[in-house]
Amino acid sequence: MTKTLWIIMAALAVCAGCGQPAPQKDAQAKREAETVKFGVPVKAGPMDGILLKDYQPSSSLVVPATHLTKARMPVIDVHAHSSMNGVRTRDDVDAWVKTMDEVGVELSVVFTNACGAEFDRQVELFGAYPKRFQLWYTFDASNPEAPGFTAGLLEELERVYKKGARGVGEVTDKGWGVEASEKTALPRARRLHSEDPRLDAYWERCADLDMPVNIHLADHPSAWKPQDATQERTPDFQAFALYGKDVPSYEELLAGREKLLARHPRTRFIFCHFSNQGNDTAALAKLLDRYPNMYVDISARDYEIGRQPRTMKAFLEKYKDRVMFGTDMGRDKQMYLGWWRLLETGDEYMKGRIWWPYYGLHCSEGAELQVIGAVAAGLQIGLSGSRSR
Ligand SMILES: [Zn+2]
Repeated sequence: MTKTLWIIMAALAVCAGCGQPAPQKDAQAKREAETVKFGVPVKAGPMDGILLKDYQPSSSLVVPATHLTKARMPVIDVHAHSSMNGVRTRDDVDAWVKTMDEVGVELSVVFTNACGAEFDRQVELFGAYPKRFQLWYTFDASNPEAPGFTAGLLEELERVYKKGARGVGEVTDKGWGVEASEKTALPRARRLHSEDPRLDAYWERCADLDMPVNIHLADHPSAWKPQDATQERTPDFQAFALYGKDVPSYEELLAGREKLLARHPRTRFIFCHFSNQGNDTAALAKLLDRYPNMYVDISARDYEIGRQPRTMKAFLEKYKDRVMFGTDMGRDKQMYLGWWRLLETGDEYMKGRIWWPYYGLHCSEGAELQVIGAVAAGLQIGLSGSRSR
C-alpha cells in the first residue's frame, strides 16, 4: 500500500466518525471559532455535545429562599384529578387529606373523569370527607353522532347530580373534539366542539343546576409551533405537540370559546390553565371583561406565573373574583408548597419545571392572595366563614 493511499484512508476514517467531509468540517470549525455574541467569542468545547433535555444548570446566585410549611389562607384547589393523583383506595384518600391538612388546603375539587358506575364508585370512595372534596364528573362524548346523544347526556347529568356531582369537568378539547384524542377523533368536519348545538340543551341544564363547567380548550400556544431549536418549552413537554397534526389552529379553537360563552350566558365556564392564554393576560382580560360567565383557573401554569410576576400580580388582583387556584400536578406535599412559595413570597430565580426560573409574586392577604383562598366564587362549595379562620 502506498503512503498516499494510507493518508487517504486515514482521512476517510476521520470523516466517517463525524459524518462530514474533512474540508466541510474545517470550514464549520472556522465559522464556530469566528462566532461572536455580544462581543464574546463563542468557541467549541465540551458542552457542545450536551442534549437540551439533559441541561440542568446549577445556580451560583445567593438570595433569600423562603421555606413555607403551610398556606397563609385556607385554600380551595379547584383542579385535582383522582386518577392522576393515584387515588384508588380509602387509604389513598386518607393520605391525601393528611397532606391537605399539612399544607393548608381546605377543599379539593376532584375531577373523577368518570360517569356511570365509575363515578358512583368514586362517590363511595370519597364519602368519608364530604367537606374536604367536591366531586365533578365528565360526560361520555365517545359517540356524539349516535341518535339520542343529547338526551342521554341530560339523563346522566340528572342522575349524577342526585348522586352528588357539583360540576362538570375537566372537559378537554385540544382540537380532536370534546373528550377525543388523535386515536379516536372523527374527521374534522364531524368533530364535536363545545359550542356545538348538540350540547346546547346540556349546557343550559348545567346552568339550571348551578353546576360550573371546567373546560380545557386548545393547549399552550407553543404546542402548535415546530419542535425545533425555536420551541418555547423544553423537551419534557413535547408529548403535547400538535404542530403539523390534523387539528384546528390555536386561534380557531380559542374563537370557539367566544361562541360558547355568548351562546350560554347563564352557564359558568372555567377555562383551565388560564384558558391556555397565560402568555397574554391582556388578551385574556379583554375576554373576561366581555363575558361575565367566564372564569379561569391557574392550574399547571406555574411557569406562566413565575416568568412575569409583576404582570401576573396585577392581573390576579384585578380579576381575583374570576381567577381560581388549582394545581393539576398531583398531590405531593412539595408540589403544594411550591405553589405557596410562588404566590406568597418574593423569592427570586426559583427552579421550576421548565428552563426558565420563577419569581415570586409576593401577594398580599387583602387582594391577590384571595385567588388561593375562596375565589371559587359562586361554586357550590359551601365554605361560608372559612376565610375568616
Ligand atoms: Zn387537569
